[in-house]
Amino acid sequence: MDLGIAGKWALVCAASKGLGKGCAAALVREGVNVVITARGAEALQATAAELRALPGAAEVRAVAGDITTADGRAAALAACPQVDLLVNNAGGPPPGDFRDWDRDAWIKAVDANMLTPIELIKATVDGMAARGFGRVVNITSGAVKAPIDFLGLSNGARSGLTGFVAGLARQPRLAGANVTINNLLPGAFDTDRLRGTAVAPAAKAGKTVDEFLEPRRQAIPARRFGAADEFGAVCAFLCSVHAGYLTGQNILVDGGAYPGTF
Ligand code: NAD
Repeated sequence: MDLGIAGKWALVCAASKGLGKGCAAALVREGVNVVITARGAEALQATAAELRALPGAAEVRAVAGDITTADGRAAALAACPQVDLLVNNAGGPPPGDFRDWDRDAWIKAVDANMLTPIELIKATVDGMAARGFGRVVNITSGAVKAPIDFLGLSNGARSGLTGFVAGLARQPRLAGANVTINNLLPGAFDTDRLRGTAVAPAAKAGKTVDEFLEPRRQAIPARRFGAADEFGAVCAFLCSVHAGYLTGQNILVDGGAYPGTF
């Protein structure tokens, strides 16, 4: 299927690794011009070189910076002549017990996983509407539908974004101008984040990371963790010209892990 977005410009945040990289790669394969961001310049440049080598690649620009800061967002936006496709992403908050989280911990989580995407949406959607085409995909988490106890900062901050997006996506001045805003909810994907959050509990349990993760893998009906590329493919479809009637939705990509009917 031709997704019909070749030549468009995408800003894909936090994309040197993992799910952001998977989304950027899928868009690059469709001939989309892509601006990718991440904090570490070295990994980012290596990813940009990989993306430029993909078949069908158009322009790939890399902007090092922290997307949760005003400067980081300004630099990312300045590198993109216009944002037709916006993929919001940032690192997830740390796990822990809510008794240990002070106001600063909460503000940091809300800044990264709620206010940063809202700022980028604010900076881009009216331009999209004026041009009659726009797609926003927010990478959130399956934890928005089925909260994970020790990821309370993530559950809380991302739910705030989800509630906000539910209202915004339905504004006729956006939905009526072919601008869609959707959330993509990853279940368990085999990325640095998945493995990184398992290191401490695995060590505590006297297990390797793989041993520690095995029961979690077995609990997924698909019997495997997801791959970033397959997450990226769903993101690219949401960004396509074919997905114009799909807005304000929360789409789980989790191998069947969420047990509900809806
Ligand atoms: P990852 O650690 O593999 O990659 C994160 C990427 O974000 C890296 O490129 C990193 O450089 C970049 N990054 C982090 N903080 C940044 C910042 N402040 N500014 C710019 N770039 C930044 O993580 P991932 O697994 O791809 O996860 C992406 C998001 O999805 C996270 O918010 C994570 O919590 C969420 N998530 C992941 C899973 C999973 O199973 N992997 C499940 C649910 C939710």
